[in-house]
Amino acid sequence: MGCLILQAALLFLRLHLAGATLVTNDTALAAGQTSDYIVVGAGLSGITVTNKLSARNYSVLIIEAGPDGSWNNVIYNALDRQFRPINGMIWYRPTAAEIDGLQRLGNPGWNWVNLEPYMQAIERNIPSSVMHTAQGAGLDPIVRAFSGAIKVSFQGIPYAFHGLSITDDLSNRTASVSASTSWTIWYDPVTRQNKRSSAADGVLWAADQQRETLTVLATHKVDRVLFDMDIRAVGVSFMAFNMTDRSGIGKKSVLDAAGILEQVVELPGVGGHLLHEEYWNDTALFDEPHMFAPEVSLVNVDELTLTHIQNLTSPNVLASRAQGLVRAGGAANVEGAKTLLNATINLIVNSRPGSSRSSGVFMATFWPVTPLSRGHIHIDPDPALGDPIIDAYYSPEKAGPDATDAEYLEWYRENMGPADRWVGSTAMLPRELGGVVDERLRVYGTRGLRVVDAGILPYELTSHLMSAVYAIALRAADLILADV
Ligand SMILES: Cc1cc2nc3c(=O)[nH]c(=O)nc-3n(C[C@H](O)[C@H](O)[C@H](O)COP(=O)(O)OP(=O)(O)OC[C@H]3O[C@@H](n4cnc5c(N)ncnc54)[C@H](O)[C@@H]3O)c2cc1C
Repeated sequence: MGCLILQAALLFLRLHLAGATLVTNDTALAAGQTSDYIVVGAGLSGITVTNKLSARNYSVLIIEAGPDGSWNNVIYNALDRQFRPINGMIWYRPTAAEIDGLQRLGNPGWNWVNLEPYMQAIERNIPSSVMHTAQGAGLDPIVRAFSGAIKVSFQGIPYAFHGLSITDDLSNRTASVSASTSWTIWYDPVTRQNKRSSAADGVLWAADQQRETLTVLATHKVDRVLFDMDIRAVGVSFMAFNMTDRSGIGKKSVLDAAGILEQVVELPGVGGHLLHEEYWNDTALFDEPHMFAPEVSLVNVDELTLTHIQNLTSPNVLASRAQGLVRAGGAANVEGAKTLLNATINLIVNSRPGSSRSSGVFMATFWPVTPLSRGHIHIDPDPALGDPIIDAYYSPEKAGPDATDAEYLEWYRENMGPADRWVGSTAMLPRELGGVVDERLRVYGTRGLRVVDAGILPYELTSHLMSAVYAIALRAADLILADV
């Protein structure tokens, strides 16, 4: 996560070759300059929003913490954890019910009808080769698109799980078990390499996307957002981390503990509602491991026992879960926590999306969705340390049928690894429920400041995130342009 957008004032000084985007590590080319928009983070969302703003001739400065040298989109050597335009390989869409749920939480306009066209617009599916088609690779053209900037294709050999056929494109999930093999890997006939398709690859480096109005300053961390007397964002300062808290917007106790004297807006939801994904590997489950096994969606509410469903839907359990999240710092208030958990429980019980996922790269990786957990991320009170402190709050709600909560939690902590897919910490929700941004992605209580990234999702999706986050970024750009 990490794309803040500021609407600044004057035109950015042009120092680069006419027509080309300038990517630089040179502080002097950005410090003290002005631009129409400043974007923090050249990740998936930052690059995507910027592409649309700069296409309309607005000047944009992106400041990115990672080194520009890591924009390497050749596969297998590109898992730089700092810098995220390079994603993994898996590509499919969330369900309509999950996207419609955003609107039901008090975010008008955030529904499937409005978001699906953006998912269509960004993807370019490259049909599988004759060989892969013969091996079972395929797609449902109803839920796939063919002319966007992000290349999605088939490199897979989809028979690693015996007995499972590709019956249902994961972008169109209806059954409790379905599988597909589409990835953001594509074969580049010019370099003869398999590459990951990323936001950087698709809309930053691409020859036809060069913008004279765009400057990317790499290897610089934004420390805080600067405000004028009207709490209008007017600039940023570079360095250190978690700029929302550091900028004086957040939970009072956190700001007090960090000694932040200039408290601009009290927003207790900042850094809360954090949801994380974990995974667990097991080679024994694979009888025939392959480099690219299918991505499989497994298990929905039908697989739970009646007792578990009753537990899931009980108002008393809901209230105690909500109180637990507030006590743990994962939610701003009980009402907000109840609303969020209820939205998720409704999705699980009524829409029945798969609640765990599995994929295989030499081994089976199980990826349980953990929808009732909420943790938090805040600045370290010791400013010298820089990086934020994360408490993912692995909720003991995940007990299996035969284990006690304590046993299951212990097993979980020992066996699960972090998957680094974060959502929620700048949730798009009504302010009174602990929201940080409104439905136009404006940070409450400020002017000229928005958050556009995976952090605005108030709950976890049962798909991998990219398709939805691209749609969020593209819609955000349209909202920003409509407000000019
Ligand atoms: C290893 C890995 C593999 C993944 N694989 C898949 C996959 O196969 N399919 C899928 O759908 N999703 C995948 N994801 C998830 C997907 O990459 C993310 O959901 C997506 O990138 C989120 O986009 P974003 O814009 O919110 O944040 P990011 O893309 O993470 O961008 C945030 C950017 O902001 C920068 N930044 C943060 N703070 C600052 C600061 N203070 N100053 C300057 N810059 C800053 C960061 O360096 C980063 O470049 C994967 C994630 C990881 C980590």
